[in-house]
Amino acid sequence: MLTETTKKCPYCSVTIGINDTECFSCKNKVGPPNQYGIAEKPTDWWSYISAFILIAAFAGFMYWLFFIKGKGGG
Ligand SMILES: [Zn+2]
Repeated sequence: MLTETTKKCPYCSVTIGINDTECFSCKNKVGPPNQYGIAEKPTDWWSYISAFILIAAFAGFMYWLFFIKGKGGG
């Protein structure tokens, strides 16, 4: 059975080592290879978390704007 020793960068398509976690060419983080031998893009949790915090803050601001600030005015 032939074992893969390389994988392809999903960003710039250069061939990199199977255990590499970062592409030497484009410096992007890469994960383990998929069934096509192309490295998967690792999940960027910090992007999700910061996006969630932004949305929650915006929703809280809108709630404050329409329901709390608007109360008893006039
Ligand atoms: Zn690359």
